[in-house]
Amino acid sequence: MSVNVLTAAIPAAVTDFIHGPHKLLIDGRWITASSEKTFSTRNPADGSILAEIASAEAADVDLAVAAARRAFEDGPWSRMTPAARAKLIWRLADALEAKAEEFAFIETLDNGKPLNDARIIDLPHSIEVLRYYAGWCTKLNGESVSLSNPGTWHAYTMREPVGVVGSITPWNAPLMMAVSKLAPALAAGCTVVLKPAEQTPLTALRLGQLILDIGFPEGVVNILTGFGETAGAAITAHPGVDKITFTGSADVGRIIVKAAAGDFKRVTLELGGKTPVIVFPDADIDRAIEGAARSIFSNAGQICNAGSRLYAHRDVFDRLVEGVSRRAGEFRVGNGLQASTQMGPVVSQEQLDRISGFIASGRSQGAEVRAGGGRIGSEGYFVQPTVLTGTRPDMDVVRQEIFGPVLCAMSYGEADLDRVAREANATSYGLGAVLWTKDLSTAHKMAKKLKAGTVRVNGGGLDPALPFGGFKQSGWGRELGREGIEAYTELKSVAMAL
Ligand code: ADP
Repeated sequence: MSVNVLTAAIPAAVTDFIHGPHKLLIDGRWITASSEKTFSTRNPADGSILAEIASAEAADVDLAVAAARRAFEDGPWSRMTPAARAKLIWRLADALEAKAEEFAFIETLDNGKPLNDARIIDLPHSIEVLRYYAGWCTKLNGESVSLSNPGTWHAYTMREPVGVVGSITPWNAPLMMAVSKLAPALAAGCTVVLKPAEQTPLTALRLGQLILDIGFPEGVVNILTGFGETAGAAITAHPGVDKITFTGSADVGRIIVKAAAGDFKRVTLELGGKTPVIVFPDADIDRAIEGAARSIFSNAGQICNAGSRLYAHRDVFDRLVEGVSRRAGEFRVGNGLQASTQMGPVVSQEQLDRISGFIASGRSQGAEVRAGGGRIGSEGYFVQPTVLTGTRPDMDVVRQEIFGPVLCAMSYGEADLDRVAREANATSYGLGAVLWTKDLSTAHKMAKKLKAGTVRVNGGGLDPALPFGGFKQSGWGRELGREGIEAYTELKSVAMAL
């Protein structure tokens, strides 16, 4: 499990980029942090120092917000037609596609994920999100409204960009998250101050270079690397920011809501999940096994919508647990740069400790480890794909988001849909749910009963057109789809007495 960070397989352009320097993107220029402070990021595959990054603080946030405000109110961006905005966003998608391989390597080195995953998931999705929202620039319309007040009226609504957006993103899918926030904001005509996660800032910075190369006006996109408690907190509290969009933990979501309450900033939150995977006895069990395994082990379980609770009918439970446990043992865990790797390390020592703590707490509360359960090696942050049985709804492993490759498998007795839905819904989260059944009636009825932002039946993945977000403590609002761009607008009603 020992790896050399910069092996010959890494393209020279990637090595050059990673060596830096890595500055802040403010008003169309790369500048050092005003405090001149930097911090180091690590390669999760071996824990070695990867890059040295500028550490933004409140003074830098002031500069970035001022630049974004100027670009929003006065700059060429504010006068650009929707079609011209669309063209720029589309060009960004093309530029990203042309450099996809470089971005995939950077993401793997920074986050640890398998290079193949970066190639076939993170990059294509990011590119398609940009193209999808480029298409929306010219379709963001209001409507005419019939009024019944006395007199003759002409009334209509229009959608205006909300203004300066502070985007705060997590480390699990760094580029995808940055793009999911940038693309709809830019398409709506907003300007952005983006703060990527301190663990994984590199692809956002490389994207910043593309944004400058293809000619976005100055100040439209500003990128501040730094810590949540300093740069992030300064963005959320800043009076010049009109909207915060955040993806991350529920705990930080709560802090952000409080910080944004002072001036009632608009807030969109994508928080945690504890997605149930519900298997009915009529399902294609082999496909359900594969789907359940991928849902929790992909990206080492570091996906807010990971299928972390398996609920299987007792008639098929043993087969499912055996199948998923076998798949857990087969998953090739290793350095993301190796072609054979299916699961990379988790992102940091902190995450490794957190996941190990959850597995230990599950064990001490009576769970049985059917697969995995430990760390792999002593270098890098590798965890075994893990399957726990004997878990109960009151256990921490079932209640809390682990954000690691740990599945809690539980069975239910009768296919009483209300009961199954009640158990699946018995969590403070409501991001997603997955159903495995061939029965259309079961699928439709369950889709209605589940308190989840996304219900998938017999598989599925992300699509830019499908809104994504959560019920309950999984967040506020939706990303992607039409709702995803409308979230970056204010609706204005105009009524004229004729
Ligand atoms: P995790 O706990 O999984 O690392 P977080 O929710 O802490 O995820 O982090 C997600 C993003 O939120 C990161 O960009 C992080 O820097 C940022 N963040 C953390 N704390 C704060 C805060 N107090 N205010 C604003 N942003 C924050």
